[in-house]
Amino acid sequence: MKFGVIGAGQMGGGIAQVAAQSGFDVLVQDMKQEFLDRGRAVIQKSLAKLHEKGRLPDVPEAVLARIQFTTNLTDFADCDLVVEAIVENERVKADLFRQLGQIVKPEGVLASNTSSIPITALASASGRPDRFIGMHFMNPVPLMQLVEVIRGYSTSDATAQYVTETAHKMGKTPLACNDFPGFVSNRILMPMLNEAIQCVMEGVAEPEAIDGIMKLGMNHPMGPLTLADFIGLDTCLAIMEVLHQGLGDDKYRPSPLLRKMVQAGLLGRKSGQGFYSY
Ligand code: NAD
Repeated sequence: MKFGVIGAGQMGGGIAQVAAQSGFDVLVQDMKQEFLDRGRAVIQKSLAKLHEKGRLPDVPEAVLARIQFTTNLTDFADCDLVVEAIVENERVKADLFRQLGQIVKPEGVLASNTSSIPITALASASGRPDRFIGMHFMNPVPLMQLVEVIRGYSTSDATAQYVTETAHKMGKTPLACNDFPGFVSNRILMPMLNEAIQCVMEGVAEPEAIDGIMKLGMNHPMGPLTLADFIGLDTCLAIMEVLHQGLGDDKYRPSPLLRKMVQAGLLGRKSGQGFYSY
């Protein structure tokens, strides 16, 4: 099985790592060599950590050797499955899938790891809507069990079955849903994170108190602001915009503070500063 991944960021790197741990040959693409180098270093560190804890049956070098890196999209022609994990922007993703639809062999399946962008729209752009699906991994990919499998309007049964089986081979638990804004995970999660941000803006409580109340009171493993920082505030904003626009209800309005922090470049953990400093 040749497994393609587009984007070597938090999610793409994690997906590539888990695919390689599952024995697949993996090819990862990003726009610049420096992004690939950064992605490779993160994978290397994660593999070393898993190995140290005795949770990696293979030696890290053997897993890493199964991952190739490229800046060239045309290298994906012989991939059986390509999972996209680039910036959460519909126009940029549609553009990429227009190209991949031309490059990847006709029987190849294309998947998006999007958090919220309509699968049906990306499927149309790809020109192979029956062999297109949402394959939504959770962050951090090596540790999180769930893969939300999202069927677009024209996704075939064979494609859904193939991706479900692949997720199982990757040691994950796939759960199916249909293509509505935010799917299930972010339809429910993001309004909670957005409300926590609104509480900061209104001075309801300090970030530490908000997170503490949700952790201790609701038994959440992580507070909503810590989680928003972890996901990336730019990604959170993009998802809220999709919910707001797609469902047309003002209850999904992004918090002005979230918008302002993204404008200021405070993106959470990945930029070193969000609701907390890293
Ligand atoms: P990220 O910013 O860490 O990584 C994105 C990567 O894509 C970067 O390396 C960037 O250089 C690359 N990229 C951007 N445009 C590209 C293009 N046209 N071609 C090739 N590479 C390109 O972002 P991330 O957190 O990994 O998120 C990626 C996707 O995964 C988004 O759609 C996001 O919504 C989704 N997602 C994120 C999370 C999360 O918790 N962060 C969870 C599930 C899904």
